[in-house]
Amino acid sequence: MRWPANTSISCDKVRLGRWRSLWVAVALVILAVDVQPSWAPSSGEAGLSSAVEMRGAWARYCGIPNWDETIRRLHEANFNAVFPYVCSAGVAYYPSSILPPSETAGPTDYLAAATSAGHRYGVEVHARMLVLETLFAAEATKLDLARQGRLMQDADGESLPWLCPTNPYNREQVVGVATEIVRNYPVAGLQLDYIRYPHQNCCFCEHCRRKFIHDTGAYIQKWPQDVISGKHKEAFNSWRRQQITSLVAEITAAAKLARPQIVVSAAVFPDWPSASNRFGQDAASWAERGLVDFICPMNYTANIGTLIGWLQQQMTMVGGRVPVVVGLGPFSDSCQFDGPHQLLDQILIGRDEGAGGFVVFNYNQQFAHDYLPYLAMGVTSTPAAMWPWL
Ligand SMILES: [Zn+2]
Repeated sequence: MRWPANTSISCDKVRLGRWRSLWVAVALVILAVDVQPSWAPSSGEAGLSSAVEMRGAWARYCGIPNWDETIRRLHEANFNAVFPYVCSAGVAYYPSSILPPSETAGPTDYLAAATSAGHRYGVEVHARMLVLETLFAAEATKLDLARQGRLMQDADGESLPWLCPTNPYNREQVVGVATEIVRNYPVAGLQLDYIRYPHQNCCFCEHCRRKFIHDTGAYIQKWPQDVISGKHKEAFNSWRRQQITSLVAEITAAAKLARPQIVVSAAVFPDWPSASNRFGQDAASWAERGLVDFICPMNYTANIGTLIGWLQQQMTMVGGRVPVVVGLGPFSDSCQFDGPHQLLDQILIGRDEGAGGFVVFNYNQQFAHDYLPYLAMGVTSTPAAMWPWL
């Protein structure tokens, strides 16, 4: 399934109106046939299917065992989107003119295989960039980046395996990668992942020191102490957010210049007020400024109360500007589900809270064999359309 040409990133009001109108239209249709609203929790064992929503799975660069089977299984369970990572900051799983190929996966064009299968089965492929992390990169690549002073540095001056977002060469690289993906592959979307700092203790590299002083006019006596615990701490936190947010803006603008109908999204941490300070990840402002077309908070928890709390906060902070597609984590590092019934419950909660759909972490054999058939008996028993305004 391909989305029609979408609006430009400056058309928030149009989007908001269409988003609301869509749900009003769906509600009227459902009332007309006198059934329970499809996004409401069901008292039935498996729940009802929903008419309009994104149903996705995050995935590795390669399918399991291959892309055809992965996407066929998703299609058979009425999922309509898949989010494979296709590159990090130091490796690509497609022939890139910017990034080196994976040492372990080789030069195979996995992204071409994914998009081909996606078109065959009508499942959207959203290419996921692990934007700033050098995950899976060769040691030689990381050493080279460190030598060039392009990696983040902590307060002790130690390099971290992450690109500093302030460094202009790094910004040029990630914008170039986004552009080549959108230009060269018929992907429905581009998803930004690892679009953040790894923690609070960075980045204090020379580029950041100079640019912070230039941008804020702050007088620094002791770097980085003055911005870690001194009088410039708040200004530095705000400035860090700006580094990430402006990078999101650059990537989105370049991607939409390359192909105006491309849909850009981001995978983000669940606790947004905390994430904006700790990780420089200000998802609410990205929605407010129209920098993303939808947001996937990674709400990985087995606790229903925690899930509802996060989702309600996210929905409030987004204020209906863009869809929130809730990320659910039966196989995440932070929690493991007992079985597919837990995922079913969380999908129903997402619908109840007004999410625009869900994305599951992560496609694997157990998900394919135990979870997908279970969901297909109830909450995804019928196909769902994608939001028509995208
Ligand atoms: Zn830096």
